[in-house]
Amino acid sequence: MTDQQIKLQALQMLKTFFGYQRFYPQQWQVINHVMHGHDAVVLMPTGGGKSMCYQIPALISQGCVIVVSPLLALMKDQVDALRANDIPAAAVNSQQSDTDNRTIIEHVYNGRIKLLYISPEKLLAEMETWSQHLQVSLIAIDEAHCISQWGHDFRPEYTRLGEVKQRFPQVPIMALTATADRLTREDIRHQLHIDDATIFETSFDRPNITLNVVAESTARQKLSRIVRFLKRHQGQSGIIYCLSRKTTETVAQQLCKLGYNAQPFHAMLPTQRKMTVQRDFVNDDLPIICATVAFGMGINKSNVRWIIHYNMPQNIERYYQEIGRAGRDGMPAEALMFYSFNDVATLTSFAQQSGQARVNMEKLHRMQQFCESTVCRRRILLNYFDETFDHDCHNCDVCSDPPERFDGTMLAQMALSAIKRVEQREGMTMIVDILKGSSKAELTLAGYHRLKTYGVGRDLTFRQWNAYMLQMLQMGLFYIAYEEGSHLKLTEYGTRVLYDKTGQERVMLSKYDPHAFESRQAAQARQKTIVPSAELVDKQLFEELRLTRTALARAQGIAPYLIFSDKVLTVMAQQRPTTFAEFAILFGVGETKAKRYWRPFTDTIRRYLNSN
Ligand code: ADP
Ligand code: ZN
Repeated sequence: MTDQQIKLQALQMLKTFFGYQRFYPQQWQVINHVMHGHDAVVLMPTGGGKSMCYQIPALISQGCVIVVSPLLALMKDQVDALRANDIPAAAVNSQQSDTDNRTIIEHVYNGRIKLLYISPEKLLAEMETWSQHLQVSLIAIDEAHCISQWGHDFRPEYTRLGEVKQRFPQVPIMALTATADRLTREDIRHQLHIDDATIFETSFDRPNITLNVVAESTARQKLSRIVRFLKRHQGQSGIIYCLSRKTTETVAQQLCKLGYNAQPFHAMLPTQRKMTVQRDFVNDDLPIICATVAFGMGINKSNVRWIIHYNMPQNIERYYQEIGRAGRDGMPAEALMFYSFNDVATLTSFAQQSGQARVNMEKLHRMQQFCESTVCRRRILLNYFDETFDHDCHNCDVCSDPPERFDGTMLAQMALSAIKRVEQREGMTMIVDILKGSSKAELTLAGYHRLKTYGVGRDLTFRQWNAYMLQMLQMGLFYIAYEEGSHLKLTEYGTRVLYDKTGQERVMLSKYDPHAFESRQAAQARQKTIVPSAELVDKQLFEELRLTRTALARAQGIAPYLIFSDKVLTVMAQQRPTTFAEFAILFGVGETKAKRYWRPFTDTIRRYLNSN
């Protein structure tokens, strides 16, 4: 097939089965690449549309696509979603009976299954036979970061997946993940023996999530903030993450007393109870969950509208993963984090007792710096994940109330030049010493007192330099290479600033103020958190459509968001289709769902139009 033929078919499937007109960024490139038999590593944020990258190839090629997934709940969710669109998919795992698994495998052999979801153990067990007898068109490895010890979810059962390539040398492999720092990404290719795989990467930005951090320490203050926050999110689903089991219970109780429907969730609950809570949340029967980190891993629910961190998380990876559970459908969502020194103290003792104390302390430190920063939150996050993001986001609390800033381009160029002149082989402390012109023995021994940048920053104090260097780090001018003695290295953006001849690259720093954090805290007490922009949509009609969706989901025993996402309902409320033809061309309505659901939804719309 030519690229053009593949593209036509792929778009046809996208439209027929899913009701979408266009690919998301990189989806088409990935599909085309594997359709030509090449291996791929796909790095996209949550909600970036990773699954489509292997679902479309399954629909347009002969044979079966095997999807390796570590989480049983996610497998079920994906299979349900595909079946809702009449795509033949099934899962094989240890939770089903052997008979069920065998029947499914038989269907696979008969070509009746296009997508087979499987746990790593099961694939490894079946691999030898399958490689000889089964027509496999693609092997997708989801949550591929689990294979790396650098990643934060290392799973021993993933390490053996390196054997897959040897078993299926002719079959393209697609590794997918939403975590992708520099080190993990290299590790994935290496461990899966797909060293030549092309890396496809989209921005990790989640622009629809509004970011807020507030310094609030007492339970009373936090509760009153939560209540104000929930007023804006009436009836919407969200998660309150807490550090301890105890806190999940007290917060849930307090909210129930105030008339909210909230339940705690943590590892110590009986399995049955956990399953009920999770199911009720997914089915929109329980809007608020107060959870420890044990909650959320296996949940694909696309209409989580908000996340609150009752306590600061222990690192930026975790924070980003947790807020990422909101707004997968691309509609506005809101994240709020409470930050206090008490949390820092608790987390410090956790980190010190942990196996990797040094790394964990460093990560905690970066988290704390994030909270106290005067730099755009999104800039810090994305730069932390090695993505150059060189502008402010206008959708976080810092951007909505920016501190006083000055043109710090000269200072930045001094620092960048010093980093460059030591051949990017020194850490933060030495760079500041060079700029200050210190006479430390280490410095002179290395001959750094002869550098051109030696002493150019004498006019500032050590504290000022440290504060500005931190801002520059958070803005993405350089990064810390932890695997190389924490040396500072220029990013592409930093290089651009250093050699800028046009005068267009301006680095705006916020004035060093030893009391910046306290002043911000005081200002926050007066100020409200920033509110996501309201959509121009008829709230009442949306609500009616939501009820219709819930009723249908109940009747069919699947989660409401699997029928239509909030985004599709929003579009429906705007366009108000009243006929089959109008309904069938809506965004997110494929052929199967058009036939299955046009009546109940258009009835609701007609009823609404008549009574208004
Ligand atoms: P990920 O696995 O990367 O978190 P998903 O594959 O779950 O993301 O996709 C997130 C949402 O985006 C889903 O509701 C999916 O149907 C939708 N989606 C995927 N691709 C497209 C597209 N090309 N156009 C519109 N919506 C899409
Ligand atoms: Zn911002």
